[in-house]
Amino acid sequence: MILFKKTGDFKKYLGLLSEKKLSVGFVPTMGALHEGHVSLMKLSKEQNDITVVSIFVNPLQFNDRKDFDKYPVSLESDIVILEALNIDILFHPEEKEIYPHGDSVAKKFNLGSLESVLEGASRPGHFQGVARVMDILLHIVQPQQLYLGQKDFQQIKVIQRLIDLENLVIRVIAAPLIREASGLAMSSRNERLDPASRKKAALIYKNLVEIKNNAHRRSFQELRDIAIRNLEIEGFKIDYLVLANRETLEELKAFDKKIPAILLIAVHLGEIRLIDNLFI
Ligand code: AMP
Repeated sequence: MILFKKTGDFKKYLGLLSEKKLSVGFVPTMGALHEGHVSLMKLSKEQNDITVVSIFVNPLQFNDRKDFDKYPVSLESDIVILEALNIDILFHPEEKEIYPHGDSVAKKFNLGSLESVLEGASRPGHFQGVARVMDILLHIVQPQQLYLGQKDFQQIKVIQRLIDLENLVIRVIAAPLIREASGLAMSSRNERLDPASRKKAALIYKNLVEIKNNAHRRSFQELRDIAIRNLEIEGFKIDYLVLANRETLEELKAFDKKIPAILLIAVHLGEIRLIDNLFI
């Protein structure tokens, strides 16, 4: 694996690759790698000549400074994982390589309603930060295929919109959400949960599954109330628990067999904010 820290060196190398007409798959991450990330990398390895992984904890997408300061960093063990997977290139830039002119959000992206619902509503500025870093990374890497996880379902929509806005020719591959044995959605932030909270966090998925399993016999509002009560008793603070149209993310008030839907949830458990989702 070749590690690039400087954008200039990395671009020069990518220029040589493009002359050879090799297909490039790109897996952007913020590090603290787990099986969720690994699943994206394996897909990219299968489907491309070259796989590029980036590790960059993007300050612009953190609306909460404390969350940024405490974001887990484990570069050495990440590199062991990447080497074991035979990843071709790791791009691990410092902040000034990505934002040489500072980190003020210069370019505003028209993300439409994606910015005002769910994660967009709860985390002001988050998706502008995501769009900004992805705009920069995609213009550097210029991959044919981009691998994103359904764990961050709304983020996939945001990045697809960015690709459309910028007229980029990049195919987005959305990969399934990977869970721990307990059902907890894998996330770098899980590392910040103490053992008791980590065990408790499995209730998030359990309650989503309950809603799904009972969808044919009770109303969504009823099932939602029960799930919220179950979680609140256990000390979770509910940010949102929403049924939405899987295509548009428009909120649905009731189950409708004709509309492919998704349940989306965000909760706080102590200091940690966790998200999950489940197709209905
Ligand atoms: P992150 O490092 O959290 O920015 O995530 C990098 C990529 O990995 C994003 O496309 C995420 O959606 C994806 N990812 C994170 N967790 C999971 C998971 N549990 N299952 C599948 N993909 C994931």
